Order: sequence, then structure tokens, then C-alpha cells
Amino acid sequence: MKYLSTRGGMQPKTFTEILLGGLATDGGLTISEAYPRFSKEELAAMRDMSYRELAFEVIRRFADDIPAADLRAIVDKTYTAEIFRSDEITPVKTLEPGLHLLGLSYGPTLAFKDVAMQLLGNLFEYVLAKENSEINILGATSGDTGSAAEYAMRGKRGIKVFMLSPQGKMSPFQTAQMFSLQDPNIFNIAVKGVFDDCQDIVKAVSNDLDFKAKHKIGAVNSINWARVTAQVVYYFKAYFAVTQSNDEEVSFSVPSGNFGNVCAGHIARQMGLPIKKLIVATNENDVLDEFFRTGVYRPRPQTEHTSSPSMDISKASNFERFVYDLVGRDPAVVNELWKEVDAGGSFDLSKTPYFARVREFGFESGSSSHANRLETIRHMHQKYGVMIDTHTADGVKVGLEHREANVPMVCLETALPAKFEETIREALGCEPERPADMVGIENLPQRFEVMAADAEAVKRFIVQHTG
Ligand SMILES: *Cc1c(COP(=O)(O)O)cnc(C)c1O
Repeated sequence: MKYLSTRGGMQPKTFTEILLGGLATDGGLTISEAYPRFSKEELAAMRDMSYRELAFEVIRRFADDIPAADLRAIVDKTYTAEIFRSDEITPVKTLEPGLHLLGLSYGPTLAFKDVAMQLLGNLFEYVLAKENSEINILGATSGDTGSAAEYAMRGKRGIKVFMLSPQGKMSPFQTAQMFSLQDPNIFNIAVKGVFDDCQDIVKAVSNDLDFKAKHKIGAVNSINWARVTAQVVYYFKAYFAVTQSNDEEVSFSVPSGNFGNVCAGHIARQMGLPIKKLIVATNENDVLDEFFRTGVYRPRPQTEHTSSPSMDISKASNFERFVYDLVGRDPAVVNELWKEVDAGGSFDLSKTPYFARVREFGFESGSSSHANRLETIRHMHQKYGVMIDTHTADGVKVGLEHREANVPMVCLETALPAKFEETIREALGCEPERPADMVGIENLPQRFEVMAADAEAVKRFIVQHTG
């Protein structure tokens, strides 16, 4: 399998060649030259597979330059009951006939990003060892991504993580999750500033190309292709869990921000999984909902801070991959559209034949507000006795609006309520339950460095700690 750029300006590369990179060399996103398609027989054989077997079956089609035995070992090491709390890895909970929750948040940081990030950590370590190379991951986080990256990379050979977060701006639980890590290859940097300052520092350091090359600076952001690939797996897992035969169709509702999760659903559908609808659920930051309703893609100048913070985005970084498919994989069209977007503008596909294809691809959408989240959290608690987090609530709210008779609806649970105690308290007047091993993590010793919002200071810190 070869990988191209959505903008058409990159020589074809292999999976391992794009694994450690971010954007394609021409500023586009990397994407496989085609989507492998499972035959009816292959799909039938996959029905009874374990999560690990399914993951190997799906990922090997994309990562075909990694020897099969090595890939199997990486997958087997990643998706274990020790790391994901059960051999199901992503367990399905049936609320009532035809309505299900897909549990994606049983990894170490209690959010769905662990599912892909844990694999990424092992893939990085494998490829770096083979190439006798190293990487220093520099990132900025307001919560979920940073902790998922740290828990995936901790103790990995050849990898150091420098994670910037705004000092005092994360919840005590999120702060404790990250700062209690004592692994010598993990560096938490609490920046005196806000999240945007952290992001600006990462940009400034990455734009210093000499520094970046000399100190092997890399990233693990949501456009990483391997992350998207790893997420394809659980759509298969859920489909088989809620159907009796492969003739049935299933719809998925996906709490969305950067479009990585639902992009994986789109790929699963293109691979032959009988998905009826893919429902994009946003919060007040509804740039994606607007597109799927109207055909207008209009990134916002500002991001609104909401009670489902991991979906607070003003533009959806993975969206370009979907648009590439929508316009018939023509990089000339993608270039034209993103010329507008990159200049701070928007585009409108409503009067083009492309927009009709949105429904052919099964996409629908909706959005949700803080009041909707509270109401949905209460509804789920009263009716089914389950506690869901704020992001999952966005997905459930929109999913229920799009539910059809006789088509099972799977709502993706992207975080556990323990991560967002404040809103749970507001909705239900009680504390969310916490996994036993996380009770009292706020009291563990913390390891972090406080620094001014100054890119040069961060560079000096990296130099000191990379030798
Ligand atoms: C990251 C995240 C999302 C959004 O996923 P995308 O792939 O960016 O669309 C939703 N919910 C939670 C809890 C997340 O951490």
C-alpha cells in the first residue's frame, strides 16, 4: 500500500515512511492510494474474531511494509486486558434493543484516544529501533491528547515527550494524570499562559527547521495516519457485536472535533462494512455540523470553550481526507478549496455535484449545547442507569435524533464521566464513579517544570534534556 498527499505533491511513500511524520511534504494530509475492500467471505470470517485478531486483519492491509509476524506481535502487545481493562478492549453496552454504547474509554487515560495512541507508541518504538533512530515529541495539550500521548510513550526506547500545558488550566484530575508520571522520558512543562500560548510555542519551535532537524522534533497529532487506521478496527468490532449477520446495516453516532474518529468510520464503510449512517455530532463548535447540513465549510476565527472541551475546535484537521474522497480524489480540487481555507476563508459545495455524495457516503450531522448535555446525561442515568460523560452526551443527543426503526444505532462513548466531574455534578448532583486505581491520584507526587511562555526557553530545556 502506498500513501499519497491529498494535495498531490508528494512522492508515494510506505506506511512506515509516513508513520513518524505530520503533514505531507506539500502541506496536505497523507492518505492511502486506495481503501482495501473485504470480500463477503472475508467479512464472514471476521465475525467471530477477537479484538486483537480484528486489529491485525484490518491494520495489516494498511501497514503492509511491516512483516506480518512483527505487526501481530505489536498488536498483541498493545490490545491487552491489562491496558484496556478487559479482553473486549472496546466493550459494547446494550441500552435497549437497537441502541448501544461502544466503550472506547477503558484505556489508561479514560478517553478514546488511548485506543490509537497505545498502538502508536509501540509502532514508533519498533520503527525507531529498526532505524536505530530517536524522536523527541513536542506537543501542546489542554487535557486529553497530551495525557494519551504520555501514557502511550512512557518508558519507550528512543522516544522523549515534551508536553506543554497551560499552568493551572486543566482539571485537577487531568493535571494529576499527566504530572504524576515519573518516567524519565516524559517531561511535563506547565506554561505560564493559556493553551494558545502553548500551541504558539510548538509552532515556533517546529518552524525553526534547523532546530527541528537537529533535535529530531516530532509530533503525535490527530492527523497521524496510523491513529486513524487503528480507529477503523472498533467499527468492525461494534458492528459484529450488535448484529446477527452481515446482511444487516448499523448506524454510528460519533462525538466529533478534528474528524479523526468519524473519518475512521468512513474508511470502515469504504472497506465494505455495512454501515448505514455516520452521524457527526458536534458541540457549540459546529463547523462540521454546518458543512454536513449546508455544504459550507467555514473554519471559525475563534473556538468556544465548552463543557465537552475535547471537541472544542475551530477547524477540523482530518476533514481534508474526507473532502479528498468527496471530490473523487482529485488533488487539483482539494488544492483549490484549501487555497481559500488556508487564507482564512471558506468554501461552499452546496451547488456542486460533490455535495450530493455526502449522503451517498452515509453522512448526517447535528449539534448539541451545554443544556442538551445536561439533559442527555440525566436522561441516560434515569432511563438506563448509566453515567455518560459530556462528549458521549453530545453523540447520544444527536444519535437519538437520527435513529431509525430497525437500524441499530451505536453511540461512541469517547470518555468516562470521571474525567469531567464538574459537569456530572451539575447534571446529576453526585460524583461520577472512578476506576479503583485512579482514586486519589490527585495526592500522588507530581513531576513538572514551570516555564514562561517563551519558545527560546522551551528550546533550551529540550537541548538540556536530549544531549
Ligand atoms: C478527541 C476527542 C473527541 C473528538 O475526536 P476527533 O477524532 O477529534 O473528532 C471526542 N471526545 C473525546 C473525549 C475526545 O478526547
